[in-house]
Amino acid sequence: MDELILNTEYEVVIRREDLIHPFISGNKYRKLKYNLEEAKLLGQNTLLTFGGAYSNHIAATAYAGKVYGFSTIGVVRGEELEDKIEVNPTLKFAKSCEMFFKFVSRERYRQKTEHRFLSWLKSELGDFYLIPEGGTNALAVKGCEEILNKNDDKFHFICCCVGTGGTISGLINVSKKHQKVLGFPALKGDFLRQDIRKFVTKENWDLIDNYHFGGYAKINPELIAFINRFKKTFNVPLDPVYTGKMMYGIFDLMAKGFFPKESKILVIHTGGLQGIEGMNLKLKQKGWPQIE
Ligand SMILES: *Cc1c(COP(=O)(O)O)cnc(C)c1O
Repeated sequence: MDELILNTEYEVVIRREDLIHPFISGNKYRKLKYNLEEAKLLGQNTLLTFGGAYSNHIAATAYAGKVYGFSTIGVVRGEELEDKIEVNPTLKFAKSCEMFFKFVSRERYRQKTEHRFLSWLKSELGDFYLIPEGGTNALAVKGCEEILNKNDDKFHFICCCVGTGGTISGLINVSKKHQKVLGFPALKGDFLRQDIRKFVTKENWDLIDNYHFGGYAKINPELIAFINRFKKTFNVPLDPVYTGKMMYGIFDLMAKGFFPKESKILVIHTGGLQGIEGMNLKLKQKGWPQIE
């Protein structure tokens, strides 16, 4: 579903990928789609993936596994979380979908792409179909190419959030020459451009890297206020880790005259709303306002 939110000197349309499903929402659905088909084809019945404490991808994989008949294993960053499953909304949900957790230290977690670590996981847990952290691989990029359709040629700009770069890669691959794809990274990372170049050959894209608010999952009261105001004004919820930061950036860029007048801008709402509950628990501890 598309929602026109501004039609002034700019036309801004939000593609509500967040409405695909409350748990396999937005880009996580797109990224899992062809991976699940591949796993079935290979006769694998267990999916293993990686994620942090509030990971949208962990929640999506757990739910997809339950619905499509796979066992799921989540390798989770942080051994201390083992005792906190019940107070962590994301892990609690994944557990209710029968995901099995393997909690590992941050140091171990960093080896998530190393052959030795993966072999060790296989010896401990049995065979599995590996879905990388954030769900990004070539099949995920293929799924994300389906976010756009042939009626989207009228847009001059296509905006999306960037975590591992799989989503933007799919968008770039199916974008047209006259379009520019703008990615808003949710974290500091010089490696992102190289990661994206592994999946794309076109040059009509850029990363706007000054709206990460200090790093992954870092937020401040101004961002919270923006997210709450946005929901009141347009009736569209945004998440604090990805879409809230991107939208803040887009509105700031519009105010600064970054986009030429009459630009038609398509904004991809990649979902992530399941993470709000966990973030609100952290905000409460700090005595900060809640995301409404
Ligand atoms: C995972 C996620 C992203 C990041 O997507 P990548 O393909 O890893 O760049 C963006 N938005 C939301 C809401 C997400 O959950």
